[in-house]
Amino acid sequence: MPKNHHSSSSRACNLCNARDFEFLLKKTGYSILRCRRCELTFTDPIPGPDELKSIYGQEYFQGEMYNDYQREVESRSPDYRKWLSWTEKTSLLSNGSWLDIGCATGGFMQIALEKGWDVCGVDLSDYCVSTAKAANLKVETGTAQDIPREWGQFDIISMWDTIEHLDDPLSALNVAVQRLQPEGWLVISTGDISSIAARLLGKRWWLMLPPVHLYYFSRKTLDAMLRKAGLTPVSVRRFGRRLRIGRAFRLLSGHGTTSAEVGPSVYFNALDIMTILARRTSPEENISS
Ligand SMILES: [Zn+2]
Repeated sequence: MPKNHHSSSSRACNLCNARDFEFLLKKTGYSILRCRRCELTFTDPIPGPDELKSIYGQEYFQGEMYNDYQREVESRSPDYRKWLSWTEKTSLLSNGSWLDIGCATGGFMQIALEKGWDVCGVDLSDYCVSTAKAANLKVETGTAQDIPREWGQFDIISMWDTIEHLDDPLSALNVAVQRLQPEGWLVISTGDISSIAARLLGKRWWLMLPPVHLYYFSRKTLDAMLRKAGLTPVSVRRFGRRLRIGRAFRLLSGHGTTSAEVGPSVYFNALDIMTILARRTSPEENISS
């Protein structure tokens, strides 16, 4: 085992700092552990930063995880439009500054840009960032911690299917909140490990993907982490995903990491992905103290 792996014994829970974990299952050589205090569920050990970076090379987007992510993105535009319109309706905002953390090749950014938003994005993948830059999008390589200062504060920050990939989700949320306008919004989507699909399928659940997915949230643990980061969850929806039919079959048969973007796209919704819109909590305490 590489030396930069943290051992489970030395880790503290990312949400509540406890060090008491229950072993749930083993998949692709990694353990899935659940905190006995707060129920946050995660992959152990966490790969080191270099290993994480190597997971998301061009191979991830063209071959390993996705056959051709760009083509996949095109078929996903209806999803992006739906997410954007729900976010606009619920936040009562229809323009302003928007940051997409984990923007990949910028598929969602394109849609938001078309609707008139001023959009920037960050992604850990150099391949994605160079693809997005070639499409004239305002993007930089990195995670929440690397958002350029000069980009200022945002009305809305999105993290679509991103937080489950991060090695320190609470820090990422804390940093993101600092970049929101005082009453700005965070919209976040991720799998729900307490969903019926996840419970029934266990290690065969399509989103059970260590070490690509490092954290597995439930409504309860995601709500708790958002609140800890200074956000108030306001609304939740369970959107499905538009997938090429070949990929949908691979996912359903438990071969989630194998690419197969063939055939027409189908809309698939097992109600196991939650999207939460949360508002930055006004720091009223600071006024009285
Ligand atoms: Zn915990």
